Amino acid sequence: MPKSAIVVGAGIVGLATARALALQGYQVQVFERSPQAVGASIRNFGMIWPIGQPAGPLLDRAMRSRCIWKETMTDAGLWFQEAGSLHLAYDALEWQVMQEFAAAEKEHRQCQLLNASQTLAQSPAVVSKGLQGALYCQDELIVDPREAITHLPRYFQDQFGITFHWNTAVTAVSSHTVKTNHQHWEADLIFICSGADFETLYPQVYDEQAVTKCKLQMMRIEAQPEGWRIGPALCGGLSMIHYKSFASAPSLPRLKHYYEAHYADYLQWGIHVMVSQNGLGELTIGDSHEYGRHLAPFDQSFINEKVLRYLQKFAHFKSSRISSSWHGIYAKATDGSTELVVQPEESVTIINALGGAGMTLSFGLGEEVVAKVMGVPRPSAL
Ligand SMILES: Cc1cc2nc3c(=O)[nH]c(=O)nc-3n(C[C@H](O)[C@H](O)[C@H](O)COP(=O)(O)OP(=O)(O)OC[C@H]3O[C@@H](n4cnc5c(N)ncnc54)[C@H](O)[C@@H]3O)c2cc1C
Repeated sequence: MPKSAIVVGAGIVGLATARALALQGYQVQVFERSPQAVGASIRNFGMIWPIGQPAGPLLDRAMRSRCIWKETMTDAGLWFQEAGSLHLAYDALEWQVMQEFAAAEKEHRQCQLLNASQTLAQSPAVVSKGLQGALYCQDELIVDPREAITHLPRYFQDQFGITFHWNTAVTAVSSHTVKTNHQHWEADLIFICSGADFETLYPQVYDEQAVTKCKLQMMRIEAQPEGWRIGPALCGGLSMIHYKSFASAPSLPRLKHYYEAHYADYLQWGIHVMVSQNGLGELTIGDSHEYGRHLAPFDQSFINEKVLRYLQKFAHFKSSRISSSWHGIYAKATDGSTELVVQPEESVTIINALGGAGMTLSFGLGEEVVAKVMGVPRPSAL
């Protein structure tokens, strides 16, 4: 008899875990309470963003995930772009941090410093006024999360024989048993990948762990006319204090102090500004970060206005018409951990709290966690 596994949640963490289990020979069933996953995994930028991960195990995990994304999306016939990224400097200190980062990281990743005219040649969307230069990196890959999270389950079903139970909330888990509204299901292993729902399954675990929730406001600009493309994904200097990787630049604390003095209102709402473009030509723009176990259900227009004001500093588009706005919520550790992996019972593993890097890290993490639970080496690189 093949070994069996159940995964709760069909967001990116659940999908990555299901894939890793299937590759280890498990017969996998995924339970998702909605008709399709509608949590953080479809609400994001679709940025597979290794540049945000510090060199070492996290960058390795991001690059492994990137490799899996590329192979999976190619094989599934879904859109992705190896777009790369441009961090844009409009201030001498921002430019200095980028230069230090490029020097410190040259062994670990392929980054290039571009002067203003080289930067403008990379992207027609970049604002030239005050531009000092940019950090260009090739590694970043863009997917359309709405398309990927909607269509990957069918691909995983066909490719790996994974069964998906939609509209099926898991209401309790105990040892090898999962309870849904109508039935009990048995499996050798159970993985809970339920995202920002801390309340339904093992709520006591979440009460004991250093985790919280984070709400991010996002916007979409309509498809650009005539197939106009921005080139690499774009971000401004504020993103450098958001991602841990930039700590390798000695001047980062000084840059943070500068932002504290000049952008206090942005820091208060955790705003930094990034843009990705999907295959339809639409632009995804964000974001802000509000933390807490109980988050307001309403979006605040002043946050979106701040995001757009900062965006104007570094990017302009052929069309700037906002076609939709929304927020997403993810789970995040409060003690600096990059994920939460706990076993409340011997056969049950909770995988959660990948914070703002779930698209970037889940495929690699899924393989690592499954291999560890099984006590086997993880599959070799593709
Ligand atoms: C606005 C925004 C932008 C982001 N941008 C990026 C980015 O560009 N790059 C990046 O790497 N990361 C990004 N992230 C982070 C990333 O999206 C998350 O880390 C990731 O999606 C978390 O995945 P998840 O599977 O844990 O959660 P989710 O996607 O929320 O999935 C959890 C699923 O579990 C289901 N579920 C919960 N409880 C049950 C139950 N009891 N029974 C059945 N089903 C259940 C839910 O319905 C849901 O579908 C962003 C996040 C947000 C919110």
